[in-house]
Amino acid sequence: MTKPIIQFENVSKRFGKVSAVDNVSLTINEGEFFSLLGPSGCGKTTLLRMLAGFEMPTEGRVMIDGKDMSTTAPNLRPVNMVFQSYAVFPHMTVLDNVAYGLKMDGVPGDERRRRAEEALELVKLGGFGPRKPDQMSGGQRQRVALARALVKKPRVLLLDEPLSALDAKLRDQMRTELTTLQEKVGITFIMVTHDQDEALAMATRCAVMNRGLLQQVASPSDLYEFPNSRFVADFIGSVNMFEGTLDVDEPDHAIINTKDVGPIYLDHGVTGATGTTVWAAVRPEKIEMHKRTDKPPKVEDAPEGYNVIAGVVKHLVYLGSETIFEVEINGGSLVKVVRPNLTRWDQEDFTWDEKVWLSFHACSPAVLLS
Ligand code: ATP
Repeated sequence: MTKPIIQFENVSKRFGKVSAVDNVSLTINEGEFFSLLGPSGCGKTTLLRMLAGFEMPTEGRVMIDGKDMSTTAPNLRPVNMVFQSYAVFPHMTVLDNVAYGLKMDGVPGDERRRRAEEALELVKLGGFGPRKPDQMSGGQRQRVALARALVKKPRVLLLDEPLSALDAKLRDQMRTELTTLQEKVGITFIMVTHDQDEALAMATRCAVMNRGLLQQVASPSDLYEFPNSRFVADFIGSVNMFEGTLDVDEPDHAIINTKDVGPIYLDHGVTGATGTTVWAAVRPEKIEMHKRTDKPPKVEDAPEGYNVIAGVVKHLVYLGSETIFEVEINGGSLVKVVRPNLTRWDQEDFTWDEKVWLSFHACSPAVLLS
């Protein structure tokens, strides 16, 4: 059973003339690893800060556990925040750092120590209690900050770009550790990030924001496969966007006439008005590349001649596990294609200036109305 723990109800925040958060309504459930995602300046940090109590909404209500906490002081909310900068006290030992919040709450010495040691065990820093923060690596200091937030057993843990100060390898490792930790403690985690890979890898659900507005709330795979706008399709991963007119829209198929790639056939309806402008978004890994033989390939589930494009390879980037190709099509635009580098004997290779056919399945495009 999902139980709401956080509810933003028509929340707006304005700083003078700047509308940082614009009429956001959002429910986050107990036990979720939720991510607020969007480009710099989209309002995600402001939304998180309103949850922590560092900012008050200009309009609307912030509910925690069904109670209106819009104006409640930060220390009286059942939430705790881990900051981007980790904010550990350099002069205190790791153990004292972790126990600090409990001391402020008047928890007796023995219990403080026990709970701080427990929290350090949880973040795999058992035995590091006597050290000073400057004797720890960046990743370890990050865990100290986590332990310090977890020790008070908050109902909700807020994480502001928690991995941004770590190098790439450590960041990968901490992604897994944070998700494992969240599953173990069962506390609701809400993480702000501008890094879509991070959000997709860690969160159970994400909210994508742009210019203060909530664009879409969905699971990582739904955001990727079924974006609801060009903004989300483009922000989450890489995409080829083909603009066209919705020409046929039946329950079991649709046709979009595009300037760049001719008519696109879909094996499902679109529920848009025919004649309107739409965008077909096709992910690079969903496009197949074939040698340019005389006859174009036939695409499964589409009539002959649909969803096939003639092109010439203009650029390729070898990335070890995969290669990214840029293929110039009629009219000069470039289509991005990603192919895994398999070790199969029958895998075809493609090179610069090679003439190719591109094709994609009738179910591949996501059709966007805005
Ligand atoms: P970033 O990833 O760069 O931190 P963000 O998506 O978290 O960005 P916010 O920090 O929430 O965005 O800022 C949203 C908008 O509100 C921005 O235009 C920002 O300049 C503005 N803003 C945020 N805090 C204040 C403030 N205290 N005073 C004035 N404007 C602010």
